[in-house]
Amino acid sequence: MTAETEPPPPATLPPVDRDAADRDAADPAALDSVAVECAAVDCDVLVIGGGPAGSTAAISLARRGWRVLQLEKAHHPRFHIGESLLPMNLPILQRLGVLDRVAAIGVYKPAADFPLTLADGTPKVQVFRFDRALNPQFGYAYQVKREEYDQLLFKAAGEAGADSREGVTVLSVENDAGGRPTRARARNADGSEFDVRMRYLVDASGRDTFLGARRKLKRKNPKHQSAALFSHFRGIVRRDGEEAGNITVERFDHGWIWMIPLRDDVMSIGAVCSPQYLKQRDEDTESFLLRTLRTVPSVEARMRQAERMAPVHATGNYSYICSQMAGPGWTMVGDAYAFIDPVFSSGVYLGMHSAERAAMMVDGALREPAREAALQSEMTRRLNRGLKEFSWFIYRFTTPVMQRLFARPSNKFQIEQAVISLLAGDVFDNPAVVRRLRLFRLIYALNAASMAPRALRAWWRTRRGRSAGFSGDTLQAERP
Ligand SMILES: Cc1cc2nc3c(=O)[nH]c(=O)nc-3n(C[C@H](O)[C@H](O)[C@H](O)COP(=O)(O)OP(=O)(O)OC[C@H]3O[C@@H](n4cnc5c(N)ncnc54)[C@H](O)[C@@H]3O)c2cc1C
Repeated sequence: MTAETEPPPPATLPPVDRDAADRDAADPAALDSVAVECAAVDCDVLVIGGGPAGSTAAISLARRGWRVLQLEKAHHPRFHIGESLLPMNLPILQRLGVLDRVAAIGVYKPAADFPLTLADGTPKVQVFRFDRALNPQFGYAYQVKREEYDQLLFKAAGEAGADSREGVTVLSVENDAGGRPTRARARNADGSEFDVRMRYLVDASGRDTFLGARRKLKRKNPKHQSAALFSHFRGIVRRDGEEAGNITVERFDHGWIWMIPLRDDVMSIGAVCSPQYLKQRDEDTESFLLRTLRTVPSVEARMRQAERMAPVHATGNYSYICSQMAGPGWTMVGDAYAFIDPVFSSGVYLGMHSAERAAMMVDGALREPAREAALQSEMTRRLNRGLKEFSWFIYRFTTPVMQRLFARPSNKFQIEQAVISLLAGDVFDNPAVVRRLRLFRLIYALNAASMAPRALRAWWRTRRGRSAGFSGDTLQAERP
């Protein structure tokens, strides 16, 4: 089947067998009788995954009138890492109609702060307030417990009209001769299985990269092979006043540390470390994490009364990107397509942004199949541009040059404000920001030239670290 011969929009499609679908969810025993599986579930769009990207796609497509089936293998509320949102998340939440609900579960985040040590040894905290960004739409964001946030979005997808089911794993997808996915097989929590017939597939399976893995599209970034250790703690000293909600991002010799204040006096604390450093660990993961955190004086000072209140997790933090974002009848969104180092807390925003754009693309492609390829390449170009903008900064974040520039930010030509806009996620639609970020890159290059010997030593250290691997993943051991 080619795109041109796709049937017209929803009205003419066979109806979803809602009764069968309801029986699947409500009465597992009915599934054992096999009658239910025989009736495949029909939908316009199958969304794999009930994380922020999947739910954003499901809401956006259901609102446009499409019959959306969203399948999530876990049960909400489920733990997830990635708790700090960016200001540019907020317009998306507003469009999805859930901003008030997120505000109710979130901690107000006015700024990102970066503790550093000046050349004369003086400690300093460089605070970048989001309300100083260039033309900010929102001058703040929220920190959220992901189990609450993801559950809220998943529920909103159901409210928007999507058939959102949890505890259902997508096992396989079948394509027609043109590579267009037409059918999927899914398994309920009780082990029973059913077929799904769809016209479009949105892969929002996160770092499982359902399609990326099966179509062998996933490309690891050999330059970014770090891993993260983290947990939740109580009794951590917060910043004063309104800044109590800041995210703290602190570099140290072997990587960087985050401190994210959450509700109920909880602080998410983690260290992203080079694999070379992780290989030195000769104690259990908790002791290693605590020892690492204590080596950084300002972190140690805030953690004196710390009480751990969750397991310590380790996860490979490998960056990757798939070689293709979309093809006939399918697209990937969020982490399913790409994952970059989380130092600027960009993951949830990029996931939700890509899901909104994907929903527009899918809507257009289903209505006018002849435009599918053009819509996909426009979407791909745009999202890759934003990813590149973040990546350029992220991959230089721990260099001495970037440390120098962050220690002495200059707002000449509003460059510091443009950097704050980037930290807020404003990298897609604001040419004033993009122009100034180009200028920042030039300044970076000039500084790099003047600091060449030191930069060379740092580069050599990083290069040596790349050859080491990381084992001991507690979140996704089966897919390093
Ligand atoms: C150490 C670390 C720190 C981070 N910190 C931040 C941060 O502070 N801020 C930020 O914005 N981002 C952060 N991130 C990134 C963030 O976690 C992700 O970018 C974000 O969760 C991506 O959302 P998603 O919806 O694409 O994927 P996910 O949130 O991973 O959701 C994917 C869902 O798909 C489901 N699924 C997978 N396979 C199947 C299947 N076959 N069938 C059915 N369901 C399936 C999974 O169960 C999962 O619920 C961090 C990441 C790491 C590793």
